[in-house]
Amino acid sequence: MQKLDDLLKIDSDAIWHPYSALDSDLPVYHVESANGVRLKLSDGRKLIDGMASWWSVIHGYNQPEINEALEKQMKNMAHVMFGGLTHTPAIELTQQLLDITPEPLDAVFYSDSGSVSVDVAMKLAIHYWQAKGKPKKQRFISLRHGYHGDTFGAMSVCDPETGMHSLFADAMPKQVFIEQPQCRFGEVCTEKDISSLKQALIEYGDNVAALIVEPIVQGAGGMWFYSAEYLKQASELCHEHNVLLIFDEIATGFARTGKLFACEHADVVPDIMCVGKALTGGYLSLAATLTTKDIHETIDNGKPGVFLHGPTFMANPLACTAALSSIRLLLDSNWQENINRIQYGLEQGLFPCMELSQVNDVRILGAIGVVELNEPVDMKSIVPQFVDAGVWVRPFGKLVYVMPPYIIENDDLTFLTDAMVKIISSLQK
Ligand SMILES: *Cc1c(COP(=O)(O)O)cnc(C)c1O
Repeated sequence: MQKLDDLLKIDSDAIWHPYSALDSDLPVYHVESANGVRLKLSDGRKLIDGMASWWSVIHGYNQPEINEALEKQMKNMAHVMFGGLTHTPAIELTQQLLDITPEPLDAVFYSDSGSVSVDVAMKLAIHYWQAKGKPKKQRFISLRHGYHGDTFGAMSVCDPETGMHSLFADAMPKQVFIEQPQCRFGEVCTEKDISSLKQALIEYGDNVAALIVEPIVQGAGGMWFYSAEYLKQASELCHEHNVLLIFDEIATGFARTGKLFACEHADVVPDIMCVGKALTGGYLSLAATLTTKDIHETIDNGKPGVFLHGPTFMANPLACTAALSSIRLLLDSNWQENINRIQYGLEQGLFPCMELSQVNDVRILGAIGVVELNEPVDMKSIVPQFVDAGVWVRPFGKLVYVMPPYIIENDDLTFLTDAMVKIISSLQK
């Protein structure tokens, strides 16, 4: 193997990292291995992981049961095309997903990533209205500060400013943006919160295929937790105006917010739902778009009578195996109590930040802890401080946040939140 310095030179010369300049002066750390909640860097340092590799590694790294399931599946069949062929991992995973997601969802479309699953959801919605004889319904309503992915369809429903829509203005469909509900999780929702949606439905409803939202928790667009009542009212309004409802549960799915799916907080069921991220326990890239019978029957009975999408690696057997194994681990664990434990630990550890003059707000829900600062952080200096403190935390903008693997023990959780408080309090006021 080449020397580490040579490898890192190739990395800095030729590899893009997410949302970065190729020639970036931000540090990247070489991870040698990962186990449980710890990332081991090549310089020997071990970091407690506060990010779960962007919401996904819920059972920790190097998980014995998932490893074993994958090894077995690999010796049997790593991949096979899904056109005209099928396999048990995909069928069993489908049964499992339909068992744990809200009742009327009864069919699954597999894809490789969250962004693609959102594009698929949007295409399904347009297909549906075409089949219903309403071909003009092709636009989408979306919340400001939303994040739904980076492909063109998904990007078009992301927040227009953070999504840099002006840069892609002529290449991207123009969607209808509405105000983010200001009613917080647990609060009542007022007319002021819902009026933006009402207005958009009246003005554009005839041309709108669906409303797409991240239920309860807006993730990468601002880590904002809003009232379940908003979703209830939004669902009723969409129904009245003949607009479908798409829930993007890619970040919130699989117990992160304290319910298996965030829509359960509101007791609202979408017409189309996307899952990804934690679906495979962070092992492989897989996402799924689920729909109701009404959607898929209508599409099947319309023209052209098929749904026009089909990824090469659709329902990859290894990915389906990892997903099945991860979901079983979750369901067999005492996840409800465990998420409550983590929520309590985050509250104990992070609420004291409220006293700091650098801090504007602290929000905690399930296994998500967010400290919103008054000023954006300097990534170049803060990330190395976290690494020196022995934790992996990667803030963005004004947000320093964590969503650790569910297996994190109380001592490690305290270590993580202590490091956050220490570093935040040392920031310039
Ligand atoms: C991460 C994310 C996506 C995009 O998923 P990728 O797998 O990165 O394409 C979409 N929606 C939400 C809510 C996400 O958090």
